[in-house]
Amino acid sequence: MKRAASESDHPESTKSKQAHWSRGLLASMQDAQYFVKGDNKVTLIKDMYPKAQYHFLVLPHVDIPDLKSTTKEHIGLLKHMEAFAKDHTKETSPEVKFKYGYHAEPSMQRLHLHVISEDFNSPSMKSRKHWNTFTTGFFLDSEKVIEDLEKTGKVDLPSQEKCKDLLAKPLRCHKCSFRPKHMTELKKHVLSHFK
Ligand code: AMP
Ligand code: ZN
Repeated sequence: MKRAASESDHPESTKSKQAHWSRGLLASMQDAQYFVKGDNKVTLIKDMYPKAQYHFLVLPHVDIPDLKSTTKEHIGLLKHMEAFAKDHTKETSPEVKFKYGYHAEPSMQRLHLHVISEDFNSPSMKSRKHWNTFTTGFFLDSEKVIEDLEKTGKVDLPSQEKCKDLLAKPLRCHKCSFRPKHMTELKKHVLSHFK
């Protein structure tokens, strides 16, 4: 029987295959299953492996590879991406709290803004690495990214070494000081903050 695809199915064994899966967001922008809405500058899609009850991505139509490539020129567009995301969440789930930001070291091509509810309650939230990408300094708030560009013309990104440390941090609840032994314990605990 055919098994549903999961994130760990991404083949990383050869360079050519890697190039293919890392372009997946561009394909999803054109796929009715993932496309939610767009305008002449940006598209909002559903994340294929949501790490929370609500998880979307906003991508610009111009091909900006990542935050490293952004300059003062992009401030207007980044503000628009954030405003577009906030309009959507306000319209569709006003009672839910969201985070809006970027991963310091993204795995997928084309700049993408994560729009994610703070519950982090989802079967795809499986590992310490997943957890730490959203709850440590690896996650760069959109507002801070824009502020960096306004002040210095570039985004203040953590070094490769720092990113490694952030992703290896021990698990910790993002709502209190609880330190679980493992993901199962953390996921159970976090539910108590989102009754
Ligand atoms: P990042 O680590 O910032 O590059 O995050 C990439 C995000 O894209 C993750 O949250 C993945 O779950 C999600 N994702 C991976 N492949 C696809 C795809 N083909 N379509 C939509 N979302 C995807
Ligand atoms: Zn807690």
